[in-house]
Amino acid sequence: MPTLADIVTELESRYDPRWAESWDAVGLVCGDPAAEVRKILFAVDPVAVVAEEALDWGADLVVTHHPLYLRGTTSVAATTSKGRLIQTLIKNDIGLFTAHTNADVADPGVSDALARAVGLTGPLVPLSPAADDPRRGLGRVGSLPEPVSLAEFTRQAARGLPATAGGLRVAGDPDRAVQRIAVSGGSGDSLLGTARAAGVDVFLTADLRHHPASEFMENSGGPALIDAAHWATEWPWLADAAHHLASASAARGITVETRVSETVTDAWNTTAKCEDFT
Ligand SMILES: [Zn+2]
Repeated sequence: MPTLADIVTELESRYDPRWAESWDAVGLVCGDPAAEVRKILFAVDPVAVVAEEALDWGADLVVTHHPLYLRGTTSVAATTSKGRLIQTLIKNDIGLFTAHTNADVADPGVSDALARAVGLTGPLVPLSPAADDPRRGLGRVGSLPEPVSLAEFTRQAARGLPATAGGLRVAGDPDRAVQRIAVSGGSGDSLLGTARAAGVDVFLTADLRHHPASEFMENSGGPALIDAAHWATEWPWLADAAHHLASASAARGITVETRVSETVTDAWNTTAKCEDFT
């Protein structure tokens, strides 16, 4: 049976911690490297419902995309939600490992899985290539097999992503033809200018705010925008990471059981339509 150290080595060979942003906190958060690991749960967020799922399933390790602790802390007492979560994991011998911005820029990484989920085919290239290796980087640009209307691509993307309360928000003419698409999992504000410069027809990402999106659309000639739930844009990566870990381990004669959490942990869980002016 593999140890936690073996699994960490395997994960970090695909998601090198040196690729993480300087402000990020990736890698092993809790767990004994010598502990045996058989069952590994993959989830976007290290939150209470995910810890419960890990406990119910009998997981030995939880791999999350988002870090539990991003800034320094002086206490892991169960007096906060984060403290309670880490106490639950430690008491039940469950490790926690995070692959965040290092998974964003990996090849394949978070946005490759997003691109495939929304139906992009053929080769994918980074929207913003990494300086040291242009095969890696933030976001991906790819194409649809043939042009479709923005409305049709939106329906296709909605079918390909896991359901969330907010669904998709779209800025642009629903009838415009689109084929070259850029995607970026998670908050994509910072890549708006890059997407315009790339000359794509659509930029699909999450967490777009009013002012950047409004100014972007006022300057005509750029891509249409699709804003999805943050969680939904990163969730497709979990299956890819889990599959890679299971097959890489199997190639070394090691059997691990992986599972992808289907619990929606996006912050927004309900919407209501407002009445119009008529
Ligand atoms: Zn994220």
